[in-house]
Amino acid sequence: MRIIIKYTNSFLTNKNHSYIVIGMGYSSSKMKIIVQKLKKAKLKITPQRVAILGELTDNHDHPTADAIYQKIKHKLPNISFDTVNRTLIAFAQSGVVKIAEGKGGAKRYDPKTEPHHHFHCVKCNRIIDFTNKEYDRIKLPESITNKHQVLGQKIVLDGICQDCKKVNNSRK
Ligand SMILES: [Zn+2]
Ligand SMILES: [Zn+2]
Repeated sequence: MRIIIKYTNSFLTNKNHSYIVIGMGYSSSKMKIIVQKLKKAKLKITPQRVAILGELTDNHDHPTADAIYQKIKHKLPNISFDTVNRTLIAFAQSGVVKIAEGKGGAKRYDPKTEPHHHFHCVKCNRIIDFTNKEYDRIKLPESITNKHQVLGQKIVLDGICQDCKKVNNSRK
């Protein structure tokens, strides 16, 4: 199957097994990444999926389903929150995105699927990505590996982010 990425006025047409997907305001290089990710996960390319994944790609906020919904509803006026939610869960199940560790609130989605770690601000709930080779190599406890299958490992640091620290200091 050949994928053609083109800016047109129609959302999506399937002509001779080729897809023409409009940009939805996304650059052609970004569209290429989105289409590749969907293809790799064997997910059908639909305007909804393109819009949702596009909103996640390059997004470092680890957004909730609602945050994504708020951003794309003007692009796809018929889309419902439920569709966004179900699509994100399907993305997570097929490995297109990851679910960031929750703090009791709504699920947060992470487009960065390569190994990385998180700094989680306890004040503003921001999740900041960082990489660390040592953390990637930490030996797993046998009490876990003997019984369970580990799919990935991630270190989560809790703390107060730079911005919240500044607010704290200025109040002193
Ligand atoms: Zn903060
Ligand atoms: Zn992350």
